[in-house]
Amino acid sequence: MDINNKLQTAQETFETWKKVPFPEKQKLLAEMAKILDLEAENFGKIITTEMNKPITQSIAEIHKCALMIRYYAEAENILQPDKVETEFRVSEIQFVPKGVILGIMPWNFPFWQALRFAIPAILAGNTVVLKHASICFGSGNAIEDLFLKAGFPEGVFQNLEIGHAEVKKVLENPIVKGVSLTGSEKAGGEVAAIAGKYIKKSLLELGGSDAFIVLDDADFQKAAESGANSRLANCGQACNAAKRFIIQENIEEEFLPIFINEYQKYVASNPFNKETNLAGMARPDLADDLEKQYEKALKNGAEIILPLKRISENEFIPGLIKVNSGNPILQEELFGPVGMVMIADDDQHAVTLANDITFGLSDSVWTNDKIRQQFFIDNLEAGTISVNKSSSSDPRLPFGGTKSSGYGTELSLVALKEFVNVRTVVGN
Ligand code: NAP
Repeated sequence: MDINNKLQTAQETFETWKKVPFPEKQKLLAEMAKILDLEAENFGKIITTEMNKPITQSIAEIHKCALMIRYYAEAENILQPDKVETEFRVSEIQFVPKGVILGIMPWNFPFWQALRFAIPAILAGNTVVLKHASICFGSGNAIEDLFLKAGFPEGVFQNLEIGHAEVKKVLENPIVKGVSLTGSEKAGGEVAAIAGKYIKKSLLELGGSDAFIVLDDADFQKAAESGANSRLANCGQACNAAKRFIIQENIEEEFLPIFINEYQKYVASNPFNKETNLAGMARPDLADDLEKQYEKALKNGAEIILPLKRISENEFIPGLIKVNSGNPILQEELFGPVGMVMIADDDQHAVTLANDITFGLSDSVWTNDKIRQQFFIDNLEAGTISVNKSSSSDPRLPFGGTKSSGYGTELSLVALKEFVNVRTVVGN
């Protein structure tokens, strides 16, 4: 089917899908969650084949999708009309689905990112067309099949196998009423500009360079394990990975060796082996880019703690560097196995360092002192602040960025209202 036919199908399905009662839609979601759990190994293999994620992490991604879908399958219907007391016989607020929504998704969590966007949009009554990353068309097709297998009508979710050059044409089409993009700032800016030109709603989930702040009263062992995992899971290719480790000056000597010890437990190996905790990057050109960024950091004064070593086309021994403020690398996202360590004199300095970037996705702070925790909660500029845990999305809680990490909300009940029109009905 060509793109125009698919958009036509999506529009026709929307006319009937929007009238399907919320609890009926939820039954299909419950079925979908079941299939995902049952077939997690098979879906996991598609992910690992396409982008090299260690297989246990791919399977975990599928189970996390099932968890999220089950959350929506059991969610309260917050889209029922809100009655408002006025002098009129009728006065209410309705939440009306927009229509066909385009999702543009990245390769780093091929099932999770696509479903995280699509599920609440579809439960709200919209239909979805997906433009997946060019290396993830297999995942896109598997997700389309999954919708059909769970019993969703044809046209509720369709995968478009198109490159990014074709996005403009799709977004310009009057059938498409909104767009959600998860990806780089560059792609987000370009897509939002087209959406803006045609007055269509956009939601952007972009990059990050999250701070992981360790203070002198933290549990060092837990912070070290969690920090290494946050930086190196999925080979460092997560938007909300810990990328800058901001360590209080007086614990540098004690904490750093514990952290290095945990960091060195990640060793690149065959992604299909269930013991593997680190594999190659998704594409060799991404590994080239990471090496260039590493060199740039060093050229601008960064010191090597653990050298980044390329051991194959897309595999590395992870690197760790000490970076001072002012190094231009701090304004870039390192999307791979290189961590940056910064030293903070005190709590205020730690906040200043953490906020001194264009991104604002999700920071993590480690301290057992409630007053210090509150200081960081009040002052960090990020969409999520995690305390004594690393950043990870939770279906029950909103996820979204501030500053150049984007706008709009995914997950939680809040996401159900992202692609609806708020309509007022009032009169006698
Ligand atoms: P990307 O290059 O921006 O690609 C993301 C998607 O956008 C792909 O489908 C890509 O298609 C498409 N795309 C690229 N350029 C485009 C353009 N000019 N117009 C329209 N579509 C375009 O990003 P990526 O390398 O796949 O993913 C990594 C980035 O995603 C990182 O910055 C990461 O932090 C971010 N991310 C953010 C979140 C979040 O929730 N905030 C989650 C995951 C990832 P092609 O494959 O065809 O180029």
